[in-house]
Amino acid sequence: ATAVTNEVIIDWLARFHDIVAKQRAYLTELDSAIGDADHGVNMDRGLAQVVEMLQRQATGPDASTGALLQHVGNDLLTSLGGAAGPLYSALFLGAGAAAGERTRLNADELADSLRAGLVELVRRGSSESGDKTMFDALDPAVEILRKAADDGAGLGPATAAAAAAAVTGREATAPMLARKGRASYLGERSIGHVDPGAASATMLVIALAEAVAQ
Ligand code: ADP
Ligand code: MG
Ligand code: MG
Repeated sequence: ATAVTNEVIIDWLARFHDIVAKQRAYLTELDSAIGDADHGVNMDRGLAQVVEMLQRQATGPDASTGALLQHVGNDLLTSLGGAAGPLYSALFLGAGAAAGERTRLNADELADSLRAGLVELVRRGSSESGDKTMFDALDPAVEILRKAADDGAGLGPATAAAAAAAVTGREATAPMLARKGRASYLGERSIGHVDPGAASATMLVIALAEAVAQ
């Protein structure tokens, strides 16, 4: 795809759910180590509902990108449990508000939209870099997306670079001491494990790159 259309967004969420469903045991294992072992189930069940809601929704060619992203944000809020639910919801609501009345996003507009979504996520969770959360995977991904767009990269290479940055960001959470969410209760014992939210957030960015590559 040369632009992020509503079709790409719906495919993005479907792919996100597919990856999460396949990696559900991995997410459960990560959340068993430093949380309450429900992240795999939360994400799998919640995203299955979101995908179903999206398929039932009439997203005609006239629907704006902003409206669709906000719709996803609302669906995530009602379907996704745990700490992660409202945070993923905030990401999509913020991205949708920024996308506005457009009906497709190029790499530059996608970078702006996702950055606005991250600002919303931070407003809700007050996470900072190094807190060992999903933000540590998403922030470098969106930063690389911005750089790629500035360099004139197409959507495909730009989102592929973002996915690679998310993977690096995810792995970098392992040595971190958790400062937000349930894992922070463990103090030093949170060190040495990848953050479950950073892992699922990486799947979100990989799914985006896959949907764009279609
Ligand atoms: P819960 O801890 O309520 O069971 P989940 O298991 O669904 O929720 O999600 C846990 C993930 O949520 C963490 O791994 C972390 O990435 C993310 N998280 C928790 N609190 C915050 C926060 N304040 N800001 C950003 N991300 C957070
Ligand atoms: Mg949990
Ligand atoms: Mg929980």
